[in-house]
Amino acid sequence: MQFRMHVKNQDKDWWEEMDKPTVTDLKTAKQTAKDIVQYYNATLYHGDKPRVLLGVEMGGAGKRQHQWRKMNLTTIIGRGGQFYDIVCCSDCGCKGKRFGVSDVKRDRAWRAKKWIVCPDREE
Ligand SMILES: [Zn+2]
Repeated sequence: MQFRMHVKNQDKDWWEEMDKPTVTDLKTAKQTAKDIVQYYNATLYHGDKPRVLLGVEMGGAGKRQHQWRKMNLTTIIGRGGQFYDIVCCSDCGCKGKRFGVSDVKRDRAWRAKKWIVCPDREE
């Protein structure tokens, strides 16, 4: 079953989408999320930052996820050598930077909590 976990480290917080067949309800989702974070913290690689679990919700963001469109043609290398893409939601116009495959950091104007999911895609 799909669930999402809200996690943070010392720099930022974000949601991670999970899909585990062993999760059947919120209770098992919470336990699984706890185990994932605990395991992550127990197996940190050099430079990894410990994570804290903030919350768990059932269901993926699914339809309510921003529809990120890549705006730049080639991946940008930022300060510190991090690669990222500039992305823009085709529904609500929210903009951000996408690091890696799915880790989008919303720009300052869209940093508020309500933009975690796409406001133009109410279910
Ligand atoms: Zn959006």
